[in-house]
Amino acid sequence: MHFHRRFRQRGGPPVTPEEFRKSGHQAIDWVADYLTNPGRYPVLARVKPGELTDALPARGPEQGEPPECLLADFERLILPAVTHWNHPGFMAYFANSGSAPGILGELLASALNSNAMLWKSCPAAVELEQVTLRWLRQWTGLPEDWFGQIFDTASIGSMHGLAAAREAAEPASRAKGMAPGLVVYTSEQAHSSIEKGAIAIGFGQENVRKVPVDAEFRMRTDALAELIARDRAAGLRPCVVAATVGTTATTSVDPVCAIAEICRANELWLHVDAAYAGSAAVADEFRWVLAGCEHADSMVTNPHKWMLTPCDCSVFYTRHPDVLRRAFSLVPDYLKTDDDPRAVNLMDYGVALGRRFRALKVWFVMRSYGREGIAATIREHVRMAQTVAARVDAHPRFERTAPTPFSTICFRYQGSDAENRQIQEAVNETGEFFISGTKLHGRYTLRMAIGNMHTTQAHVDRAWELIQAEAAKLAG
Ligand code: PLP
Repeated sequence: MHFHRRFRQRGGPPVTPEEFRKSGHQAIDWVADYLTNPGRYPVLARVKPGELTDALPARGPEQGEPPECLLADFERLILPAVTHWNHPGFMAYFANSGSAPGILGELLASALNSNAMLWKSCPAAVELEQVTLRWLRQWTGLPEDWFGQIFDTASIGSMHGLAAAREAAEPASRAKGMAPGLVVYTSEQAHSSIEKGAIAIGFGQENVRKVPVDAEFRMRTDALAELIARDRAAGLRPCVVAATVGTTATTSVDPVCAIAEICRANELWLHVDAAYAGSAAVADEFRWVLAGCEHADSMVTNPHKWMLTPCDCSVFYTRHPDVLRRAFSLVPDYLKTDDDPRAVNLMDYGVALGRRFRALKVWFVMRSYGREGIAATIREHVRMAQTVAARVDAHPRFERTAPTPFSTICFRYQGSDAENRQIQEAVNETGEFFISGTKLHGRYTLRMAIGNMHTTQAHVDRAWELIQAEAAKLAG
C-alpha cells in the first residue's frame, strides 16, 4: 500500500504490470461469470436518477487507489446502476449482444490504444477495417467495389451520407457554405438520426420531407415522386433520399428498388439506413432485405445491433469515396504522408481525425462465429419472434399492430393506451424483462425486440406469459 502511494505520488504507473495481471485475471473471471448468467441481475437498473451520483465522491481523488478498490466499487456502486443490455430479458429498443469474442477484440484494441487516423498511424487497424468490411459485403451480397469504413454510430454514418450527397449536388458548399433549398426525403418512420444529420449538415429541418408510409409502414413511392415534383416546381432542389431497411418502430423495409429508380430518374443521392436489419442479409433467406441497395450511393448498417459486436460499431459504405473525400479531406502539414494508393488514410473520409481500432472486434466476431454462426443466431431470433406473433394473433384480447418481418413484435392489448403502459410497466418491474413501446397510428403499442444471444425460447415464453397475466388482471 505504501508502495502504491509513493509510486503514484511520483507520477509512476498507477497499476504495475504485476498488479495488472492479477486484477486483469479477476476482471476476466468476472466477465466470464457475467456472460455465463447475465440474467441473474435485474435487467433494468433499479436506481433513481441521481442516486449513483450521490453515492460517489463529489471530487476526484487526490491520491491514486489500487485496482482492488476499483473492482470492489464497480460491483458495489456501478453495477446496481447498470441496465443490462447483455441480459436475455432485454427486449427493448433493439436488443443486441456483446459476445465473448467481441469483448476480447475490444480488450486487445484498448491495450494497443491505436489511432487509425492514417494508414501509417496503424496499418493493421486501417487494413483490417478494409478486409472485414469486404467480408461483410460478400456475406450480405453488396457490391464488391464499395468503399467501407467504421464509425461509432449509424447516426454519424448517415450524417456523412448526407454530407456526401450535399457535396455531389453542390460542390461549392464546401468553400462557401450551403445555399438554401436542398431537400432531403425520408419516411415518416425513419430514424430521427436522418433529420438530425440534415440539421447538422445544414440542409435545415424545414427541408426534410417526411414521406408518408403505406399500411405496412413502408415509404410510399408515389408520395415520394409527388413531393419531389412539388419541390422542384417550387424552385427547391431535391438532393437526397434516405430509405430505411428495418425501421426503428416496426422494422418495415422501404421499397429500395423503386426508390432507387426514382433517385436515378431525378439524379438524387440514395442513402440507405439499414442500421438494424442490414445484418439479417448474412442469412441467405434474408438476402432480400438489401434488394435494391446495390443502387445506393451510401449505406449504414450496425454490427453493434444484430451482429454480436459490442457497442460501438457502425459500418458505412459508399460507392463514391471520391465524393466523401472531396467533402472532408483537409490535411495539415503535420499529417502529410507518402502517397501510396494502398495506404488509405481514413481521416480523409470523415469529420473525425482519431479513430478507434474497431475492426479488431469485428474480425474476432466474424472469425469466431463464421457467417453460418451469425446467420443461425439471427434465424433463431426471428423464429422465436414468430412464435410470439402467432400467440398474439391467436389471443382474443391482443392484436399485432405491424407485420413482423424480423424479430421485433409490435402488438397491443385491446384496451386503452394507459392499460398498455400499465402492462409494460408491470412486466418491466419484475426485473426479468425490459420491453419498450411506441406509438403507431396514434395509439400506444408494445414492442418486444428479440436480439440478444442469451435469449432462449424459455425466456420468450415466460415474457409472453407475464404479459398475458398482466392483461388478465386488467380484464378482471
Ligand atoms: N437507424 C435506425 C433504423 C435505428 O433503429 C437506429 C437506432 O435504433 C439508428 C439509426 C441509430 O443508431 P445509432 O445509435 O447507431 O446512431
